[in-house]
Amino acid sequence: MVTDVPRLLAALHRLYDGADCALRHRNAFELLIATILSAQCTDERVNKVTPALFRRYPTPAKMAKAPLKDLEALIRSTGFFRQKAKSLSLTAQRLVADHGGDVPRTMDALLALRGVARKTANVVLGNAYGIASGVVVDTHVGRLSRRLGLTRHSDPVKIEKDLTRKIPAADWIWFSHALITHGRTVCDARRPRCGDCPVRALCPAADKI
Ligand code: SF4
Repeated sequence: MVTDVPRLLAALHRLYDGADCALRHRNAFELLIATILSAQCTDERVNKVTPALFRRYPTPAKMAKAPLKDLEALIRSTGFFRQKAKSLSLTAQRLVADHGGDVPRTMDALLALRGVARKTANVVLGNAYGIASGVVVDTHVGRLSRRLGLTRHSDPVKIEKDLTRKIPAADWIWFSHALITHGRTVCDARRPRCGDCPVRALCPAADKI
């Protein structure tokens, strides 16, 4: 296990200080919808479908009234499109009925929305509102946290608990963007480039995968 978390964080800050959310959005509603669409789909693909989606349905009130078939056609290429269209519709309806058309700012209220689990709620709270409610744990963050010795778990909720214990709250929002960037550029799931990795000296998994 990595013991020198401060050194690891310092190295990641040097490398990825400006790392940010890859899902394009202009407000909390767009980020919530884009994050729901990003399940089992790349951010790049989501960014291709959201401009047309938000042109047609720019607000919760408009999306709440959208015919399901139309939503399905607009988001089809993101996969699981029937299920996701239903989530979008029900989420928009809930925002209108319970939150006056706004995206709520608490974990509990976000978790009550259809299609929203902790990861999505953390993305929205952190990136739309700047509220550090936890650490976003996606597939990159989970894999890299294990490789870097920050957790032994594979369950996202347990991984998040380990990360929030070890990482200062001021870094929670940035940290997942940094790990996602490192995962995409260097520490690939199947072929990590340990030989070129700038945090290799701090990584217990270096050259072991
Ligand atoms: S040393 Fe290898 S396993 Fe460790 S973070 Fe770098 S690329 Fe990933």
